[in-house]
Formats: sequence, C-alpha cells, structure tokens
Amino acid sequence: MVIRSVTMPSVKYQRGDMVMGRWPGSSLYYEVKVLRFDANSQLYTVIYKDGTELELREQDIKSAAGFQSRPRSRSRSQSPGRRRSRSRSPARTMRRSSSRTAAAVAAAAITESAPASRRDTKLKDAQEVILSPLQQTKAAENNSNNKHEQKEENNTANKVNENADAIVEAEPEKNQGRYNLRRRKDEAKPVEAKAQQLEEKEAKPAAAPAASPPLPLDFGGKLGAYFWLLFLPAWVLFLVLQVNLEDPSLANFPPPLPPLHAFWDAQALGLVILWVLFQVLLYILPVGKLSEGMPLRSGERLKYRTNGFFAMVVSSVVVAAAMHQGVDLTYIHSHFLQLTTASFLISVLLSLYLYVRSRSAAAEQLALGGSSGNVAYDFFKGRELNPRIKDFDLKFFCEMRPGLIGWCLINFALALAEMKQQALDAPSYSMILVNLFQLLYVADGLWNEEAILTTMDLMHDGFGFMLAFGDLVWVPFTYTLQAYYLVSHPNPLSPPAVAALVTLKLVGFYIFRKSNSEKNAFRRNPSDPNLSDVKTIPTATGKSLLVSGWWGVVRHPNYLGDLLMALAWSLPCGFSHLLPWYYMIYFIILLVHRDSRDMTQCRRKYGSAWDEYCRTVRYRIIPRVY
Ligand code: NDP
Repeated sequence: MVIRSVTMPSVKYQRGDMVMGRWPGSSLYYEVKVLRFDANSQLYTVIYKDGTELELREQDIKSAAGFQSRPRSRSRSQSPGRRRSRSRSPARTMRRSSSRTAAAVAAAAITESAPASRRDTKLKDAQEVILSPLQQTKAAENNSNNKHEQKEENNTANKVNENADAIVEAEPEKNQGRYNLRRRKDEAKPVEAKAQQLEEKEAKPAAAPAASPPLPLDFGGKLGAYFWLLFLPAWVLFLVLQVNLEDPSLANFPPPLPPLHAFWDAQALGLVILWVLFQVLLYILPVGKLSEGMPLRSGERLKYRTNGFFAMVVSSVVVAAAMHQGVDLTYIHSHFLQLTTASFLISVLLSLYLYVRSRSAAAEQLALGGSSGNVAYDFFKGRELNPRIKDFDLKFFCEMRPGLIGWCLINFALALAEMKQQALDAPSYSMILVNLFQLLYVADGLWNEEAILTTMDLMHDGFGFMLAFGDLVWVPFTYTLQAYYLVSHPNPLSPPAVAALVTLKLVGFYIFRKSNSEKNAFRRNPSDPNLSDVKTIPTATGKSLLVSGWWGVVRHPNYLGDLLMALAWSLPCGFSHLLPWYYMIYFIILLVHRDSRDMTQCRRKYGSAWDEYCRTVRYRIIPRVY
C-alpha cells in the first residue's frame, strides 16, 4: 500500500509550489502546481491549469523563475515544440488517439495560460506535440482508447486508486522514468481530497484572484457588462409595462412610464421576502436525497439537497391552504410591477453580497475566468463558482427554487385573473395549455433536479448578477408573459389545435428529457451496464464525449427539445402580437449564444477530441439546418 506523503520532507519541490512541468513526450513546459510527491515511485503529482493531473519526474520539473526570464518572442522555428520533428518522433508507433488527446491537453494548457496574441502560434505548436510511447501499466491502460476501461477509471475512483497503488507497490522500479497519464484528480479518495483541500486552504492567503487563468471574456467583455447591467432590468421593465397595454404592439413603443411611486409597494417586498424564506426553509429541511455534484478542480465533490419536487408539492399545498383562508392570488396580477421591482431589489442586494464575499474567496473557489479584474464584468458574470453559507448552496438554491416554483405560482394566479377579468367559469384552453406546459417543464426540472448538477450554470459559471437576476427576476417575471398576455388577450383554440399543440409539446419534451437524461446518466456513471452500448470519443481529461443516442444527432439535442417546447408555449397566444413570442425569440438567441459559449469551453477542455466530436456530429442544434 502506498502511503501518500502529507508533508514532503527533503524533496526538491513542495506541495503548493507553482513550477513549470514538461508535457510528457514533448519539450513544452506549462505552469503546474505540485500536489504531492510519492516517495516510492519518486514521482510528483502535479495539476495543470485545465485541471488535468499527471505524475512527473523531478528532472521534468523546473522552477518557474527560470522560465519567466526567457524572452517571450521566440520564433516558431526555435520553439521546442517544433524542434521535435514528426518523422523522428517515437510516438509514430503509438495509436493516433493517444497523441491526439495528449495534444489536446497541451493545447488546453496553452490556451488558458497564453495571452490571446500568442495563442494561435502556440496552439499550432502544441498540436504537433507527439507523446513518447509509454510502457503501459494497468493504470496507464486506463487512459487508453478503450472506452470501457476509461469508464472504469472515471467512475470507480477508489477501485482504480487501489489498483494503481498496488501496481506501484509491487513494481516500484517499473514506474521509474515512466509517466502516468491518468487523470488523477477524480481518483483521490474523498477523505484525502478533503483533508488536502483543508490544508491548502489554511496555507493559502485569503484572496488570490490572479491565480485564475485569463480567459476570453463573454458577453461583450467589460463594455458588454455595463451594457447588460443596464439593459436587462430596462428590458424587463419594458416587457412588464408593455404587456399591461391593451394593444401591446411595437407601435406603442416606448410604453408610457408610470409615476415612480407606482413601482414600490412595501407589502409586495414583504411577500417576495416571505416567499424566498419559505423556500429556504424547505430547502434546508433534511428531507430528500443528498446528491453529489461533479468533481471540482480540487477534486472535491459538493453535496446538494435535491428535494425540489418536495418543495414544489409543499408549496402547492400551502398556497391551496392560503386560498382556502381567503387569500386572493389575483393580487399577483394587479401588483406585477411592484413584485418585479421587489425581486429586482433582492437580486441586486444578493449580487452585491456575492461580489463582496468573493473578494475573500480562495482562488480555486472562483469560476474559471471569474476574475477578470474589472469590477463591472466580475459583478455581472459572477466570481465564486459555488458560494455557500455552511452547506447552503446559494447558486443551486436560486437556480431551482424561488424563481422556478414562483413561475408556476404566478402562472396559476394569472389563470385566476383571466377568469376574473373575462368572467369565465374556467380558464381558457390557451391559458390551461400554457399553464400545464410550463408546469410540466418546472415539475420535470425539479423531479430531475440532480441533472442540473451537470449543466453549465452549475459546473462552469460564477454566481453573480447574471444568474441572480436571471433566477429571481427574469424567469418568474418574463417567462410568465404568455399567461399574463392571455389574461386580457383571449385566443380561443379549436380541439384540433389543442391536440396539435399537445403533440408538439410532448415531442419537444421527449427530446429534451431523453437527451438530458442520457448525458446526466453518462456523466454520473459511464460504467453503468445500461450504457455499455453507447459510442464515445475519449478525451485527455479522462472524460469521454457521447456520440450516440441524441448526442449523436446534434451537439445540443437538449436545446432542440427546449426550443420545440418554447414554440408550444407561444403558439396558444396566437399571432396578433409579437409580445407573447418574446420568449421564443429570446430563447433562440440565448441558446445559440449558450451553444457557442459551450463550444468554446469544450474546445478549451477537450482540444482535438472536441474537434473530432464536431466532425462526427456536424450540426449544433437543428439536424441539417444549424
Ligand atoms: P448542457 O446540459 O448541454 O451542458 C453542456 C455540457 O455538457 C458541456 O459543457 C459538457 O460538459 C457536456 N457535454 C457536451 N457535449 C457532450 C457530449 N457529447 N457528451 C457528454 N457530455 C457533453 O447545457 P446547458 O447547461 O446550457 O443546458 C442544460 C439544460 O437547461 C438544457 O436542456 C437547456 O435547454 C436548458 N436551459 C434552459 C434555460 C431556460 O431558461 N429555460 C436556460 C438555459 C438552459 P462536461 O464535458 O464538462 O461534462
């Protein structure tokens, strides 16, 4: 049994040292952090900026200082990466995929650390890196192209860890001078990982934002952040005022602004606060499953209380009881503007809190690119990846609870308002469809709450104004506009139209649910026997990419399903006005932009493996169209 040293006596590099590590088989060096040293194998475990962990020999590690003093404008012909000619490379005998994936990681390391001006040249160099052939140990075989072995590696972390340890113990001499290209971060036993993280946290100064690698800025960068900070609230205000008009057409732009006092209602603020606190209470109740998030860069996996469906059911019972006691839910319709203002206020306060607390967060707690150095951009985009108060995860809670369940509550209140305003005994077909379709969407999201843990928002984005405003204002007060519109703009539907809309919704829902479940199941447990038939493309990070099922049809099948559902939500409102189509238009823009952000992130993470995925699955969202 190998004992991983906690302290590292009499070795050249200490845990936490930032050094330059040679990429195996190449002469390229990247900045890495030393995680530990194994006295038996004499190998250092280091972590690259993209989260890849490798074991390196001492002679392949150099102090960072020497590198900094080198001239940066080395010509391409002098580049060490280029000096190794392909014809001389011993790696020519290797399987193609291994060199490809290694180059991918090298490319990823460069992309994240190099300034944009040098990126293209370096990327080219990196793609020419060919790995020297490795003598395969059992552990190294785990990095092979065999997807089943790779699945084993990813998901039976402790088992593999034990295997790896056993190999090192039995054949220590074989490990001398040999690289272990396993991605190691998932392998660490949880207890060890946690202990190590705690130690690192103690050793580290509170704020080290500079350690976050410089990434290209999203959303138009710094100027874009100012724009969005002003535009998003203004746009919500525009929509809310517009939908109140008898004729909410673009001809009535801009809508008349109400007097300032019309925005404010203390009772509305009180009700929003009460609603959020009520959801907090349901979230912290020890009811429901504790689910594990995806491994963080530190290797740690956070736990989340996934009891969203329970929260929705209890909320419904409480709302029904309140109605029974005489509470008039149409208040929500008549005080829509004030409720929106109150939620906006809360989202701003929350964003300020998030920004301030992120200033003292450790570097590894920040999202990648979560520290641009520009206050407006960081405030907008969010810095901390998983801000928590003890076990209370602020991002997860806001993403899934007050806004999402509030969306259904508001829709229901608007159905009651329609009955009141139109003097109906029951809501119209259009209103029923919009309510049921969106209720299904939310209920499904909460039922499969665990699936959000593998989405971009949870895994990659920092928590700042963008998500706080989106969760607490944008979702509940703009996703309800179709129902709001129907309150005073009836659109009768024939039974065949109802049947067609239900079919469209169900088709969209099927694609959406199936694809999200496929990816979630695969990411959570790729070695699940039920997934033995799936086709995958391995990547150097140890994760594979699905290329079968819906993920072999388009690169974002979940977006396709979502868009079909969005269409089914807008159609019941008819074609008299553009306003109820706002969601559809906005959603197309959102998902196209989201897809391109994800493409960039995945290319950075997976390098040429991602390019291969894109060649195999050619269309992004709509087969043969886009
Ligand atoms: P995804 O759930 O598609 O997550 C993207 C991540 O999935 C990638 O970063 C990558 O992460 C992984 N991935 C991508 N391709 C593959 C593959 N072939 N095999 C395995 N993993 C892959 O995107 P989103 O987080 O944007 O969306 C989640 C859901 O939420 C979608 O259904 C979307 O429609 C919906 N949504 C709804 C919104 C709304 O307002 N109604 C807003 C935004 C999203 P990695 O490899 O690191 O695991």
